[in-house]
Amino acid sequence: MKQTIIRTGLETLYFTGLHHFMRPLVGGIGAILTLHHVRPARPEAFQPNHLLEITPEFLERLLRRLRGANLDVISLDEMHARFLSGDFKRRFVCITFDDGYKDLQRFAYPLLKQYGLPFALFIPTSFPDRLGELWWLALEAVIAQNSRIGIVINGEDRFFDCGSVQEKRELYDSVYGYLRSMTSEDELRHFVRDLAVRHGVDMAVFCRDLCMDWPEIVELATDPLVTIGAHTVNHNMLKKMADESAVRAEMAMSRAVLEAALGRRPQHLAYPVGDPTSAGPREFRIAAELGFKTAVTTRPGVLFKAHRDHLTALPRISVNGDFQRQRYLEVLMSGAATAMWNGFRRVNAA
Ligand SMILES: [Zn+2]
Repeated sequence: MKQTIIRTGLETLYFTGLHHFMRPLVGGIGAILTLHHVRPARPEAFQPNHLLEITPEFLERLLRRLRGANLDVISLDEMHARFLSGDFKRRFVCITFDDGYKDLQRFAYPLLKQYGLPFALFIPTSFPDRLGELWWLALEAVIAQNSRIGIVINGEDRFFDCGSVQEKRELYDSVYGYLRSMTSEDELRHFVRDLAVRHGVDMAVFCRDLCMDWPEIVELATDPLVTIGAHTVNHNMLKKMADESAVRAEMAMSRAVLEAALGRRPQHLAYPVGDPTSAGPREFRIAAELGFKTAVTTRPGVLFKAHRDHLTALPRISVNGDFQRQRYLEVLMSGAATAMWNGFRRVNAA
């Protein structure tokens, strides 16, 4: 639904050229990009998580464009320094990757290295510890590998056919929506664990097969282009955790584990999932209290000077696998699309 709105909005903005007109108004001082997977296109028709991946070719076009543009690609530390000193003479872009997937190292890192561009990597420490639950992929696998699945809703067994690609897509969307509407993360995890067990999907394989291990992260961290940031331990939607001290522990513990592994204390944080249902004012305050220089959400938006007072509630622009066209990205980075999205509010930290 939201995606359709964004896409329609983008097309409209692009074709009317409105974004050029709005640029001085909404362009802001810079933007932080969010990426997840970078890997070659896959043939499967059922790819409900496709929005989380782009191809290496698309990344290379993006990097070439960024390097050729009249802006600076900078590290999160440099962004923080510019906010503190009020140095906004040149627009800037920060590149960030969430979750620490192996494909980053294999396909994205060589390109970033070749173009000499700094980037940050947000690691949930349970992923390299091989204890992470990539529940959205487990759900995808359950639906991909079965033509009928059973779900317990309110203690009652319900069965759903998902033989065709269309049925799989629809079922994924409804179950995903149902999971995201749950009030606690424990409930969500319990549901997916149970579903995976009953349909022969081993949840441990996603972490093992897709995520970097500690030696790989440690090696990457030695490159001065690389900033490693915290992304909690268990990749929980923090806002759904009732206990404030548990939220604090998720942030502080992931930073401590990364510091122990890397010999350097992470200064930046990304909230898992990061939308308004996953991170809100309580999380922004705790991140600031813990002394993180910056913390990023997935709320869509470009940066303004006013974000100086909201450095633990920064918006990002998602480089989304469903929008792998440069013109989409140009519109997003101009700030016009996200300004409409945000109702022309510059800072959205409520
Ligand atoms: Zn994440």
